Amino acid sequence: MFDRASGLDDELFRLRAEGLSPAERAAALDALFRYESRQTDLLLGYQCNERIDCAETLSRYLDRHLNNVGDPFQSGSASFNTKWLERAVLDYFAALWRAKTPHDPDDGASYWGYLLTMGSTEGNLYGLWNARDYLAGKFLLIDPESADEARAAASNGGARVVPPRLVYQQAPAPESQPNARVPIAFYSQDTHYSIIKAMRVLDIRTFYEVGTERYPRDNPLAPGKPWPHEVPSVGGTNGVGVIDIDALTTLVAFFASRGHPILVNFNYGTTFKGAYDDVEAAGAALLPILRRYGLDEREVHYDPRDCRKYDVRTGYWFHVDGALGAAYMPFLEMAHAAGRITTRGPNFDFRLPYVCSLVMSGHKWIGAPFPCGVYMTRTKLMLRPPSRPEYIGSPDTTFAGSRNGLSALVLWDHLARRSYEDQIRKALYTEDLSAYAERRLRELGQRLGQALWVERAPLSLTIRFRAVSPALAFKYTLACETLYVDGEKRQYHHIYVMEHVTRERIDAFLNDLAAPDAFPAQEVRPTAPAHESHVAGREGRLMHVPHTGRSFSG
Ligand SMILES: *Cc1c(COP(=O)(O)O)cnc(C)c1O
Repeated sequence: MFDRASGLDDELFRLRAEGLSPAERAAALDALFRYESRQTDLLLGYQCNERIDCAETLSRYLDRHLNNVGDPFQSGSASFNTKWLERAVLDYFAALWRAKTPHDPDDGASYWGYLLTMGSTEGNLYGLWNARDYLAGKFLLIDPESADEARAAASNGGARVVPPRLVYQQAPAPESQPNARVPIAFYSQDTHYSIIKAMRVLDIRTFYEVGTERYPRDNPLAPGKPWPHEVPSVGGTNGVGVIDIDALTTLVAFFASRGHPILVNFNYGTTFKGAYDDVEAAGAALLPILRRYGLDEREVHYDPRDCRKYDVRTGYWFHVDGALGAAYMPFLEMAHAAGRITTRGPNFDFRLPYVCSLVMSGHKWIGAPFPCGVYMTRTKLMLRPPSRPEYIGSPDTTFAGSRNGLSALVLWDHLARRSYEDQIRKALYTEDLSAYAERRLRELGQRLGQALWVERAPLSLTIRFRAVSPALAFKYTLACETLYVDGEKRQYHHIYVMEHVTRERIDAFLNDLAAPDAFPAQEVRPTAPAHESHVAGREGRLMHVPHTGRSFSG
């Protein structure tokens, strides 16, 4: 397939049984390198930092297999790992995100985490998995039969090793509270599709599904009307894009009062609008409701025959998807404390006692040659309460089996080369340049006398505007999203101001936008009836599955 925009052709890369000659290989790789260099040099549309400087450090490791399989805090037998660096990186972010360090398996308040092999998608999946099992009253216990086997083997004088087996056990719901083991998930309409995907993979019920099935007429936001698919965002589709805390509170109260544990995903830097949910304000609004219905803390009994066998757990889980924002907001906060910037983002990290898990992508603001990231939680929230000797932790605590050992190297090297002051300067640089780009885009709209729909959430590193021509979208690799605004369907592009972006790049981009054909006319159609048209009936499972937009893939 020849692709005119890239100038590359599948034929150039076709593999043959006899392999390619050195000249063919070189020609193919050179053409690819020219193409990739051009595209990454001009990249404006995605939140990937292209200023990556790890080749010197990394290159000699590329012919080594480095694998951090298993828990970062257990060495395991795979000696070819980089877990020393992984733990150093985790400690760094734990301190930055105000979690208790160092990790200590016997100290539930301390943090636990690991470096992801995918980006935040894996962290979201893992966090929601942990949340689901924690809230549903799942336990990992030592299988009593394996203990009996071990005893029998020992009394026979045999040296047979009987490793303790774990059983995955489900605590039954108390008879008076049939919903006590059915968590209900809440997330805003600006949520990344990886969260929705994770909910489907994990079969987590959302307020929309359960509301529609069991309480079709009782939507507390608009009695008698259909339930919204997602928690509304403040500012509607075109506004700032943070979760509407009043609406969230109303929806949570509805399900909390019916005894359901509550699972909320917050976004710290939404993908398309770059808005920061006010996690602190949301937590302050939700906690009294959770307390009222006994969901702040509850006893989860896992052995119906023995009332002493229980664990104290929260009846809620707040996950923070900080793919982009968690990387730099701590530095903007430092800049703010030093009087170097007038505003800062809302608190989102482990200083808030109700934050249960947090993820960040390493290849976005920080910059890395491949996807990577950080997952972090509190030790006591893992399915292994440390205070109870009858439990043991699963040594297989991470999602992936094999884990990429290079991620730890890249992130460690990045952090080791930079001081906090360097990071603060970088954060202020991307912030200032975003403000500059926003101003220039607004000026352009005035100059052209055309509504360019320029929007930027406070402190966001992304600015969105009326969609540009396909040629410009390809040149600058811009992601498109369709938003419904005031009954009108509008196509937007956005740019992300990452470290590699310069003022000159913004100026050159604006020059291109001043050309007469830069903004093609858009067909303005009234809002389509919201997604109902393809739904065959209301029976069965319903979940709103955004398949375009909001996405990192465009
Ligand atoms: C990019 C992004 C993700 C997914 O992260 P990957 O690193 O691409 O897996 C999740 N959530 C948000 C808010 C994002 O912006």
